[in-house]
Amino acid sequence: MAEQSAELSPILKQATPVLAARGEGVYIYDEDDRRYLDFTAGIGVTSTGHCHPKVVEAAQRQVATLVHGQYTTVMHRPLLRLTERLGSVLPAGVDRLFYVNSGSEAVEASLRLARQATGRQNAIVFQGSFHGRTMAAASLTTSGVKIRAGIGPLMPGVAVSPFPYAYRYGMSEEQASEFALRELDYLLATVSSPKDTAAIFIEPVLGEGGYVPAPASFLTGLRERADRHGILLVMDEVQTGFGRTGRFWGHDHAGVRPDIVITAKGLASGFPLSAIAAPSELMEKAWPGSQGGTYGGNAVSCAAALATLDVIEEEGLVDNAAQMGERLHKGLAQVADAHSVVGDVRGLGLMIGNEFTAADGSPDTEAAARAHRAAADKGLLLLTCGPHGNVVRMIPPLIVTADQVDAAVEIWAESV
Ligand code: PLP
Repeated sequence: MAEQSAELSPILKQATPVLAARGEGVYIYDEDDRRYLDFTAGIGVTSTGHCHPKVVEAAQRQVATLVHGQYTTVMHRPLLRLTERLGSVLPAGVDRLFYVNSGSEAVEASLRLARQATGRQNAIVFQGSFHGRTMAAASLTTSGVKIRAGIGPLMPGVAVSPFPYAYRYGMSEEQASEFALRELDYLLATVSSPKDTAAIFIEPVLGEGGYVPAPASFLTGLRERADRHGILLVMDEVQTGFGRTGRFWGHDHAGVRPDIVITAKGLASGFPLSAIAAPSELMEKAWPGSQGGTYGGNAVSCAAALATLDVIEEEGLVDNAAQMGERLHKGLAQVADAHSVVGDVRGLGLMIGNEFTAADGSPDTEAAARAHRAAADKGLLLLTCGPHGNVVRMIPPLIVTADQVDAAVEIWAESV
């Protein structure tokens, strides 16, 4: 009875275009066994592909051994091993870890840590930022008006500075970077005094805001300002970490040292797990009991994360992301050359956005939505993002092959 009368909430109804029966590698199969090339990867989560046998095996073994042990009373090997393992891929000295379950929770944890460590309250974020939907994370988020609509009052003390969005500024990346750094200096001089500013939150590639890579000179400029003013530089690597951009971390492209790294998504191939990493002396400033959670560092998720790291290493997925990303970028640029409605193709590694622009230069949301739908009808799953939903983004599993990239480009060319 209960099953018959149960209704999906409107939110779930609107969000379900494909009824997935199973996933395998880069493919999703629906309940009629129709196959889709999944260039969404659960929004950048299933980087090792759907149901990678090694991840499945590790999780199954752990489920049968110990599902959960809350680490304040029952510590377990998967968490200890994962901590050791992540220490070898994190920036030197930024290797003290704390685990939660989602990107938003990790953002909250890093904000708490930044405030406690500095004794300051304010945060600086960039136009188009996305850091999550919980209240503090939503306060740090400026992309997607729906996320903040009707939920206020939000956290005070968040100042928004322009992101170097070169295409929309009509500037080169270097010019945009210089401009955005000047705006940041202006903001620090007038709106958010450095002595009140705890942290600068930055995504190395602006994600939901439109897949815009931050130029290396911009990240270097942020580091300089953070050092000058004693502000913490927080890299939100939720979407860009674990090889997604063709380097292990998004900030590796700029060679910039973060104070806090936030990770989630690609960390555990779809099992809920996220973490923040910071130097010991910083992490020790978190007040005992102020960070925590019942499920953080769950044993099955940690086992899946360990297997994920094995797969990334053994299958050379960081290099594959770089190579396949280049191939995909090239194919998409050719499609854009043939169709003026695609005004810009940009990204790093396997994180690429196609921005739709009308003849008058305005964002063409309708054309993006049409191409997005047409691709799904032809068996290619994609996502939209950007200031007006006018960017169609591609974020396939990092195991994607040249043939699969070419097949996706072919479908994309027909869809645009
Ligand atoms: N930070 C970034 C850069 C993200 O892209 C996201 C989600 O897309 C989040 C934080 C929030 O993560 P979650 O949805 O797991 O809470």
